[in-house]
Order: sequence, then C-alpha cells, then structure tokens
Amino acid sequence: QVVGDRAELRVIAGPDVDAHHFQTRPSHAEAVRTANVAIRNGAGFDNWFNRLLGSTNFRGTRVVATEGLTLLREAPRPGHNHGHNDPHAWQDARLAARYIRNIEAGMARADADGAAHYRERAEAAVARLEALDAWVRAQIATVPEARRVVVTSHDAFAYFGAAYGVRFLAPQGIGNTEPSAQQVARLIRQIRENNITAVFVENISNPATLERLAREAGVTVQGRLYADALSAADGPAATYEAMMRHNVGLMVRAMAG
Ligand code: ZN
Repeated sequence: QVVGDRAELRVIAGPDVDAHHFQTRPSHAEAVRTANVAIRNGAGFDNWFNRLLGSTNFRGTRVVATEGLTLLREAPRPGHNHGHNDPHAWQDARLAARYIRNIEAGMARADADGAAHYRERAEAAVARLEALDAWVRAQIATVPEARRVVVTSHDAFAYFGAAYGVRFLAPQGIGNTEPSAQQVARLIRQIRENNITAVFVENISNPATLERLAREAGVTVQGRLYADALSAADGPAATYEAMMRHNVGLMVRAMAG
C-alpha cells in the first residue's frame, strides 16, 4: 500500500502463519542481508524478527509499525499474569492508519527521493482506512448491544473490541498459549448462560481446542476469522481491507444469531 512499485517486498511470515511462534530459516537471513528496510509489528509480537536482524548485523532502516501507539496490556490469566503488551493493534482500523504513517516515515528515511511518492500513497491508504473504519462501526451498530459478544481461539481482538464495542472471549491467551481445563469449563458456561452464538476458529490457531469447546457448549462454529495473518491471494482475506470486511461480515451475522 505504501511503497507501490518503488520497493520490492519480501514477506517473511506469510499467509495463514502464526507469527507469535515463527521459526526462521536460512533463506530468511539471506532476504534480510540484502534488504534496505526492515518493517516489523513490534510490541512483543515478532521478537524473532528482531533477533534475526541482530544475528545478520542488519544495518538498514528499522521500522516498528506500532511505534508511538498506546498499547493495551494483556488481561491477567491464571498462571499468565505477567502483563505483556498486547501486540494485535492492527485490528483497529484507526491504529492501522498509524502503522501506515510509521511505515511512510521509515521509507522516507531510507529513500528521501521517494518521500513524496510514499506520502501520496500513505494518504490514499489512510483515507481508505477511514472509510473502512466508518463501515465497521455502521455494521456493528446493526447488532443489539447485548448481543455483541464473540468467542474465538486466542486473544487477538482486544483492540477491535475496544474500538468497535464488541466483547471477545478466547480460551487461548495473547501469544496463543493453551488454556487450563478450568478456563475452558468457564468459557463453556459463559457461552451457555449468555446464549452466545458467534463462535469462530482462526486461520492461525489450531482449531481443535475451539471445536471441542463449541461441541461441549452445544453451539456451531460459524466460520474462520483472520486474526494475525492474511489469507493467500485466492482466499477471502488477501488484503487488510478484505480481512476486516470478511471478519466483520461473519461476526455481525453470527452475533445477530
Ligand atoms: Zn495473536
């Protein structure tokens, strides 16, 4: 969206990949060695990428897309209350616009001659995100407030929830950590007691925990949300905007029951 044809993109953690637990390969070190700019999410999401930049002595421009954002903290969970930052800020379209600006600034630092090119593209991208943000709000507004609850695999949607007024419940933590039996039992009780119908698996998480939980709660899994990675080019979430529209479309239909 920002660089257009002025730079060649090499994506290390690609479609449908869990970037919390990514294993780099020698080909990734090679990609970094010949790069001018390295862009990562930051906020504890992709520490492996930072280590890769260190081990390859990367001397180019480093961009942390979440720089300057006010981050949410991980909700305390039994056995996991060390209070990490929540890295999933892209799930709020207004914060995604801040990512665009950080990337624009980084590209202009690395390639001053292209600054006007990056600015023009970033401004167009931010305008699209503002329209997307308004669309998400209008969609969520069609669901009665009491029905705005979604169950999904891992805690990836806190920023979405804070921005758009949806409550998310997940058995697995922010870093895709496995839940205890008590956490699963509690979630099953919540689904039954609140008659929650919006239950989803995710593209990057093993669906087994969620499918078992849905079976025990007596609800049907309503599809797959794209949490931390896009789909392949021929899938339903090949771009950021397609991902948001796909997720919101599924959530709104399922929340309405
Ligand atoms: Zn995640």
